[in-house]
Amino acid sequence: MRWAKRDSIVLRNRRGGRISYVFPVRVVEDGPDFSALHLAAGTTVKQRVMPDGSPFTHDIPYAEKHEAPLRVGDGTWRENSVLMLTRTGEAHSFWAFWRDEDWKFLGWYVNLQAPLERTPLGFDSSDHVLDITVEPDGSWEWKDEDEFEDAQSVGRFTKDEANEILAEAERATSKIRNREWPLGSEWEKWTPEPEWTLPKIPEGWDRP
Ligand code: MG
Repeated sequence: MRWAKRDSIVLRNRRGGRISYVFPVRVVEDGPDFSALHLAAGTTVKQRVMPDGSPFTHDIPYAEKHEAPLRVGDGTWRENSVLMLTRTGEAHSFWAFWRDEDWKFLGWYVNLQAPLERTPLGFDSSDHVLDITVEPDGSWEWKDEDEFEDAQSVGRFTKDEANEILAEAERATSKIRNREWPLGSEWEKWTPEPEWTLPKIPEGWDRP
């Protein structure tokens, strides 16, 4: 089943069979080739927190976060609106960012992730740690390479899995270098419909 434009659904991140992040999003397009999902600034999300409920920040050593029991708390998606464009079956997603206050296009972020799986609530995926940031002019750089290394040393990814992620990253950077879709496309000028309200976390968000 495909989602209709304007449907309010959730994109969830799974970790070891459990839900670690829940992003309520609005469907912009859901076709056979790709889906486009809007995560609006100000949306209430579920996000992974430390066992004492404190935020999961970048400065906590990766091994510590990896060992910590999974706990999920409330959070807010701040500042920037995101449109997530994901081709069916691909293990990466292009995220366009706009500054919420004046809708200035800020560039792209490539999230390496498991291909989207359909669920009764929306889509599930699993994050692959490594990311790429792309400026509006097309220049790009790796993000979280250090965490990707750490994820391998603590055994989150096997050598083969890490190699698959790197091969996918290579396919994504080749699209960036060639300025292929969605870079430079009309999607960079996309705006949400003014009457769209913020989607909410549904009942059963934590069901596997
Ligand atoms: Mg990521």
